[in-house]
Amino acid sequence: IMLQLKRSEKLSLVGQMSAGMAHELRNPLTIISGFLQLSRKQAPDAPYLAMMSSEVNRMNEIIDDFLLLSKPVNSRFDRHEVLPLLRETLQLFDNQRKEAGVSAILEEEGAIPKIDCDPNQLKQVFINMVKNAIEAMPEGGLLHITVSALPKNKVGIRFADQGKGIEPGHLTRIGEPFFTTKENGTGLGLMVSNKIIENHAGILRVSSRLGLGTTIDIILPVHIKTA
Ligand code: ADP
Ligand code: MG
Repeated sequence: IMLQLKRSEKLSLVGQMSAGMAHELRNPLTIISGFLQLSRKQAPDAPYLAMMSSEVNRMNEIIDDFLLLSKPVNSRFDRHEVLPLLRETLQLFDNQRKEAGVSAILEEEGAIPKIDCDPNQLKQVFINMVKNAIEAMPEGGLLHITVSALPKNKVGIRFADQGKGIEPGHLTRIGEPFFTTKENGTGLGLMVSNKIIENHAGILRVSSRLGLGTTIDIILPVHIKTA
C-alpha cells in the first residue's frame, strides 16, 4: 500500500489561531525555561526539575512545528550535500538507536549531486523520519537509508525500516495534524516534513506493510527555480 501525502492546504481560521497561540506561548515558555535552568543549578539533584525541563522542551518542539506549519516558509536554498545531513541525523540518535537495538546503514547509489535546499529544514525532515523508524522498532531491527542519484536531475532518499508497519486504515490519515498512534506522539512530524518537502518542490511517499515495515521515499529535484 502506498500513499503520497496530500498537498498541505491553506491554513484554516483554526489553523491561523493555533499558530498565533503557539507564537504567544513561546514567550512565557522561554521565561519558564530560564527559571528552570536556574533552579537546576540550585538543586541539581531534584529529579522533578529534569522532568519539567524535558516537558518544556517537548512544548517548545510542538510550538516549533506549529510555527513552521503556519509560516509561508521563506527558505534559503543553497547547494548542499545530502549525505552529511543524514550522517549528522543518525549521530543525534546514536543512543536512542542502541537502546532499542536498531542498527543503521547509510548507502549511496551513484554519484549524488549537491541539491538546492535549506539544510536545516531538510535535517528536520530526516530527524522526523529516523525518529519514526526507531520508534517503530522497539524490539530492534534495521534502518536502511539509501540516497540515490535518479534520472532527470533528481535525488531520492529512502528510509526503510523493519518496524511494526502502518495499518491500512491508518495510512490515509498519516500526515493529518495530530494523527498519532503513540502515547507521547504529537502527530505533527509527517505533516511538517511533507510541508518542507513540498517547499523543496519534492514529494514524500509512504508505503507500509503491517508487521513487516515501512518505507518512506523522498524525491527532491537538484535544482529549484526561484521566482
Ligand atoms: P508522531 O510520531 O508524533 O506520532 P508523525 O506525524 O511523525 O507523528 O507520525 C504519525 C503516525 O504515523 C505515527 O503515530 C505512526 O502511527 C505512523 N508512522 C509514521 N512513521 C512510521 C513508521 N516508520 N513506522 C510505523 N508507523 C509510522
Ligand atoms: Mg514522529
